[in-house]
Amino acid sequence: MVVIGAGIGGLVTASQLAAKGAKVLVLERYLIPGGSGGSFHRKGYTFDVGASMIFGFGEKGHTNLLTRALADVGEHCDTIPDPAQLAYHLPGGLEVAVDRDYERFIADLTALFPHEAQGIRAFYEACWQVFRCLDAMPLLSLEDPAYLAKVFFRAPLACLGLARWLPVNVGAVARQYIRDAQLLRFIDMECFCWSVMPADRTPMINAGMVFSDRHAGGINYPRGGVGVIAEKLVAGLRRHGGAIRYRARVTRVLIEQGRAVGVELADGERIGARRVVSNATRWDTFAGEDSPRSTLVEAAHTPAAEATWRRRYRPSSSFLSLHLGIDAAVVPEGFHCHHLLLERWEEMEAEQGVVFVSMPTLLDPCLAPEGRHILHTFTPSAIEAWLDLSPSQYAAKKEADAARLIQRLETILPGLQGAIHHREIGTPRTHRRFLGRSGGSYGPIPALRLPGLLPMPFNRTGLAGLYCVGDSCFPGQGLNAVAFSGFACAHRIGADLGLNPWALPA
Ligand SMILES: Cc1cc2nc3c(=O)[nH]c(=O)nc-3n(C[C@H](O)[C@H](O)[C@H](O)COP(=O)(O)OP(=O)(O)OC[C@H]3O[C@@H](n4cnc5c(N)ncnc54)[C@H](O)[C@@H]3O)c2cc1C
Repeated sequence: MVVIGAGIGGLVTASQLAAKGAKVLVLERYLIPGGSGGSFHRKGYTFDVGASMIFGFGEKGHTNLLTRALADVGEHCDTIPDPAQLAYHLPGGLEVAVDRDYERFIADLTALFPHEAQGIRAFYEACWQVFRCLDAMPLLSLEDPAYLAKVFFRAPLACLGLARWLPVNVGAVARQYIRDAQLLRFIDMECFCWSVMPADRTPMINAGMVFSDRHAGGINYPRGGVGVIAEKLVAGLRRHGGAIRYRARVTRVLIEQGRAVGVELADGERIGARRVVSNATRWDTFAGEDSPRSTLVEAAHTPAAEATWRRRYRPSSSFLSLHLGIDAAVVPEGFHCHHLLLERWEEMEAEQGVVFVSMPTLLDPCLAPEGRHILHTFTPSAIEAWLDLSPSQYAAKKEADAARLIQRLETILPGLQGAIHHREIGTPRTHRRFLGRSGGSYGPIPALRLPGLLPMPFNRTGLAGLYCVGDSCFPGQGLNAVAFSGFACAHRIGADLGLNPWALPA
């Protein structure tokens, strides 16, 4: 079995399959595992590439997929609980920090919108309903009828509940309970901060997971940096006989008689496989009008269903990202790890509108030299804004846009500008280059109003022997979501090859 890419989606698939007894080889084009969920080291700092607000590390239930993926291959991450998911700094002076404690969060939000006390509780209770359904059942492949039958037998009410929520978006539920325009905008922002879409285009299944798990399992940061998750999955993969090769860029899926039979690497090496899994995005996997020059599967073999998917989903923007090493003295007492900043509501979906901030050294000081913090800040930015520039224009834009971003952060971190010791600027071109993602995109977003998560594809593709895993598969972006995709992919392949145990996981 070959897995193309060592993102969390690819690694969960690979390690699960290795644990089932399959012979697995992961081919990763870069030097480290984890993709957008990796970490890199510079001058005594450990920076997270992308993800740093980590869901799915709880101890109970079934939605703790990172905990489970590691445990299944004999691994474990030490984690540090984050007392707040996120501090919002929104237009009109709306300041909300989402407390780990659910009742405290509800009380804080209700204090700001007392006339909406009932609506607030009813809306978030609807999210808990979704979460409780998800949490009551082992999360495996919805493409396997045997699994569906078994899970229905074990948790019939949860299954029916989920089926009900699958086609629903958050906006409709929020408007059912809430009238206040500013509060509805806050709900939009609650969605945007992980789905990069307002509530009307954010599926309720994902919202149920995010808005509840932050209080159930909580947000927990892996000690040593987010990249530790991927490193441990690699260790677990190897322990179960699997292998990984770095600097191994796959250029082509080999196809014989309409079936994927292996891959070809950039240096011409060919590797045969009974099954091939692509952890690259669907835009990088299959050919289409808006594809990068070369895709893993050429147009002649790209299934027709992919064209339908491309009409329904488009790539979201990429990010302008700054990784900073700063003086600890500039950070006020009690400052939270994650922040979101927006000055004008109209700019929520605009180029370089919302600003995200993450400072994991507030949880794990070992990530920076003594007296310093790491600060990762990023803002959505489309690759089109960074193309067709001369090298000097590109360098100048990087400097100017980075300076503006730092300037905006001065409102929550006064003195930041003068406290920077280390600085790295990543543009959408950097994301495209180092993550191998078309346009450096964060992931797919609906191109039109869609019924919840229903149209999102699972892991099998229209090409026999080829599967996809990761954020362009059900249920979308986020480390815990792609871990779900990894469990599902490994389960579907396990079913195809007769590797799955009869009983569902406990
Ligand atoms: C700035 C930023 C912040 C984020 N913040 C959060 C957060 O706080 N919490 C959260 O849960 N999520 C967050 N996310 C989202 C999350 O990181 C991603 O959804 C998730 O990591 C995607 O995982 P994946 O396995 O689908 O793909 P990726 O992480 O993209 O991994 C794919 C891997 O495949 C490799 N690859 C691609 N093509 C080839 C090829 N041809 N040959 C060999 N290897 C190949 C790539 O090098 C990469 O390692 C963030 C993302 C970004 C960019």
